[in-house]
Amino acid sequence: MLTVSGLQKTYTGDGRSVEAIRDLTFTLADGDLTCLVGPSGCGKTTLLKCIAGLLTPSGGTVTLDDAPVTGPPPGMAVVFQEYGRSLFPWMRVAANVELPLRQKHIPRERRRALVHESLAAVGLADAHSAYPWQLSGGMQQRVAIARAIAYEPRVLLMDEPFAAVDAQTRADLEDLIRDLWHRLGVTVLFVTHDIDEAVYLGQNVLILSASPTVILEHLPIDLPAERDQLHTRAAPRFIELRTHVYGQIQAAKKAVRADAGPR
Ligand code: ADP
Ligand code: MG
Repeated sequence: MLTVSGLQKTYTGDGRSVEAIRDLTFTLADGDLTCLVGPSGCGKTTLLKCIAGLLTPSGGTVTLDDAPVTGPPPGMAVVFQEYGRSLFPWMRVAANVELPLRQKHIPRERRRALVHESLAAVGLADAHSAYPWQLSGGMQQRVAIARAIAYEPRVLLMDEPFAAVDAQTRADLEDLIRDLWHRLGVTVLFVTHDIDEAVYLGQNVLILSASPTVILEHLPIDLPAERDQLHTRAAPRFIELRTHVYGQIQAAKKAVRADAGPR
């Protein structure tokens, strides 16, 4: 179980300070697929980095199975927003995917099998010996996803992983994530600014307000577990849910404007 409690993060430096997160509290149950949706700049990436132990919060705590997170916890994998910077350009695709498995001291044969399976799962069975820079953006992002799943994480954090891929690839990758989640029983926290994507993917959606960031709602998505791009997105319940999430975010924007408006 992953718990975020009273989390606060203020960036300081150059004599300036930016309050990215004011006060966030929530819990993710084991094996849940939660989408975190919120406007650009509301602190989604900051939150993910705090959960991954890559940033130290200014206040509050993150705990994984009751142990406080103070550095990158074993069993957690992250797919970052800037995939271009997350692969090593001098290493071939297979070596990129294999690297974390070496650090985990997995035996050679098993490493090979995991690299194979995960690249096949993202549709890149033919790209083993390519260099990342020989691939398109969408393919590079799939390599980053393959690397994360080869690691067989217990918790998978993804930060707007599909923002830079074309619509068709994106739809395929969304279905891949649901499929992997289903098969591996991994706990997933998936960050997006796309409301439709959050509702389509999530079992739950955490809706964040614009800065100063608070949780507007932790919404269960009561759509059938079997989803597909055509029918799910056209279902009346899907449309109700996305309209509801959209309404929450709009209402929060108006509240902020009223707060900041002329007096
Ligand atoms: P999101 O991912 O939701 O777009 P971020 O977490 O990237 O939001 O950023 C939240 C706020 O924190 C923004 O105002 C951003 O400018 C600021 N911020 C992010 N990273 C830093 C940093 N390293 N130093 C200073 N301010 C930062
Ligand atoms: Mg971000």
